Amino acid sequence: MSESRNFLHELTGSMSQGAAGNPTVAMIEAAFAHHGLHWRYVNMEVTPADLGAAVRGAKAMGFRGFNCSLPHKVTVIPHLDGLGESAAVMGAVNCVVRRGEKFIGENTDGKGFLKSLESVVPAKGKSVVLFGAGGAARAIAVELGLAGTKRITIVNRSEPRGAELVALLRDKLKLDAELVVWRGDYAVPAGTDIVINGTSIGLYAPEARLALDLRSLQPGMVVADVVFSPVRTRFLDDAAARGCRAIDGLGMLVNQGIVGVQYWTGITPDADVMRRALEAAMGL
Ligand code: NDP
Repeated sequence: MSESRNFLHELTGSMSQGAAGNPTVAMIEAAFAHHGLHWRYVNMEVTPADLGAAVRGAKAMGFRGFNCSLPHKVTVIPHLDGLGESAAVMGAVNCVVRRGEKFIGENTDGKGFLKSLESVVPAKGKSVVLFGAGGAARAIAVELGLAGTKRITIVNRSEPRGAELVALLRDKLKLDAELVVWRGDYAVPAGTDIVINGTSIGLYAPEARLALDLRSLQPGMVVADVVFSPVRTRFLDDAAARGCRAIDGLGMLVNQGIVGVQYWTGITPDADVMRRALEAAMGL
């Protein structure tokens, strides 16, 4: 019986991969094995109609937590007992943690990004250009705001989505945020410290190009990509060639896994073990 209390449960949408080929499962289970934890992390497909029952079931069976991916990131909220700070601001949960008898919703996407970024440069006081206003960009922008970033320029193709994110950053975090609607090649303003691709441009598309005037990237700027496959995107290569410090999306993926394991188990897992397991599962 005691082992069943140490069971993690990943709720995913019906479009998700099965457990056997899921790199996240491999990464998290590698951490458990490495640290001698008799825990399991399993992937399960849950339909939107069954989400409430699945959450109640996980609680009843003593699960210590679970991740949830699209389409459950917002709709899971009414089934939880509370939210962590950043999840409450962004209104999306990808990681649920049992605290006492409560299931609390957290969001580790932005925290994973911040951990990667802050291994290179602190976010506090920095000026940031962020391409994108979807789920990943929203999570990153909120964590940057909570970490004390001075200014964020959101550059997004769709104006309503960009405007919604800027309003959230201004209203809930009192952040100096502005929207640039993305038309043609964007020139990064002088004085920018950090440039982030938070869009899906480049995912599984090594040749895909971000509409960006590369001459505006200055040596010393930190450039990061959320795209993790390929690990080295064209955007990162172009930026590195301009003398920028590049941070890949695989680090963000590993770090959000690390934050999840920390939340669930209380231990700080070995990052190298997790990255190697992830790379192996992704065939890298
Ligand atoms: P969403 O669908 O929520 O958002 C996509 C964003 O990309 C939107 O801002 C969209 O703009 C923009 N976009 C897509 N195609 C184009 C294009 N051709 N031109 C201009 N803008 C474009 O996706 P997510 O935010 O959930 O995911 C984004 C990326 O982040 C994915 O590649 C995902 O794999 C990655 N990711 C990585 C993680 C990691 O740990 N490394 C974690 C989570 C996500 P518009 O609003 O105009 O449509």
